Amino acid sequence: MMVNSGGERCTCGQRGCLETYASASAILRRYKARGGTRAITTEQIPPLLADDRSAAAVWSEAIEALAQGISALTAIFDPEEIIIGGGLSLAGPALLDPLRAATSLRLGWRDAPPISLSTATSRAGLHGAGLMAGTVLSPEPRASYAG
Ligand SMILES: [Zn+2]
Repeated sequence: MMVNSGGERCTCGQRGCLETYASASAILRRYKARGGTRAITTEQIPPLLADDRSAAAVWSEAIEALAQGISALTAIFDPEEIIIGGGLSLAGPALLDPLRAATSLRLGWRDAPPISLSTATSRAGLHGAGLMAGTVLSPEPRASYAG
């Protein structure tokens, strides 16, 4: 999902993708690119926000990118809830509080959907793949229309 036309190059080949700014790996990559040296994992960035300009800048840009994406998805799909998964879900209130505020600001004409963090953390993809495999291996019986 593009959130910044003409933005940074994404691994998919496009520019300005949400993943480029707001994934856990992107935040850490962007922090290091700005000269940040105090964090070696993304989880170490939120405690640095008060006194590390590189950490604060990449975190703020990630929040804005996520808020842009969530507000666009909300306008299109009107979701009941937004659940943030993956490594970023470990950030807790350092992510949720500013993200809720930034999303509400962008959706001034309506309430923002509730935003929460997944408890599946970085294993969400693994759980989803397992569920899909179970569906493929054990399909629902098909309804019969033959009386
Ligand atoms: Zn991309």
